Amino acid sequence: MNILIFGPNGSGKGTQGALLMDRYGVAHIESGAVFRQHVGSGTDLGKKAKEYMERGELVPDEITIPMILDILGKQGDKGWLLDGFPRNMEQARKLHEALTGAGMHLDYVVEILLPRETAKKRIMGRRLCANNNNHPNNIHIDAIKPAGDRCRVCGGALSARADDQNEEAINKRHDIYYDENSGTLAAAHYFKKIAAQDGKTTYIELDGSGSIDHIRATLLAQLH
Ligand code: ADP
Repeated sequence: MNILIFGPNGSGKGTQGALLMDRYGVAHIESGAVFRQHVGSGTDLGKKAKEYMERGELVPDEITIPMILDILGKQGDKGWLLDGFPRNMEQARKLHEALTGAGMHLDYVVEILLPRETAKKRIMGRRLCANNNNHPNNIHIDAIKPAGDRCRVCGGALSARADDQNEEAINKRHDIYYDENSGTLAAAHYFKKIAAQDGKTTYIELDGSGSIDHIRATLLAQLH
């Protein structure tokens, strides 16, 4: 089982991705996490990638594409959920080429749809509970609004993560994601076309504007 997941920063992609991993027992290959590991352990690749990551830019394709294709080639039979790759057309084409060359195909491609302004508000509205990272609080989402200025679950103190408040960085990432000509949405639509033709890939468009539980239920109902 091979799955791709697309969704802008702020769309709940991580949460829905976890559901897919649980359900199919596939490996999670998250490009951002792979890069962070390289940076953390100071590899040559990490040294090259670091400056781009810090600027919120894509790491160049000549580094990213072989790195991800190499990891995919080392996976076992269970398959994988690929998250954060591809993010542009070049990456999309190279992934398709590699899969076709290896006689593999994608089983599912999930695209979480969320308007850009909503995604930005969600990120900026996120609040962290001092007692528990998993207590959801967001000043812009009615279902999980904090209780005044305290955690809605336990009453703990709340704070905002600094990079969640960096509007310029959020805009930069969203510029790449919402670019339908050569960016991440272009990559998603490229696979949408392939899915419509190959008869093997199910393309799921998931409305990301509801609650986490609602999105989860909608996703589950479309898996076979
Ligand atoms: P974010 O959503 O904040 O961009 P990620 O954790 O997905 O976070 O990725 C962190 C960084 O790693 C990105 O900002 C980018 O520099 C790099 N990166 C991740 N995936 C890719 C990719 N497919 N192509 C190029 N660079 C990538």
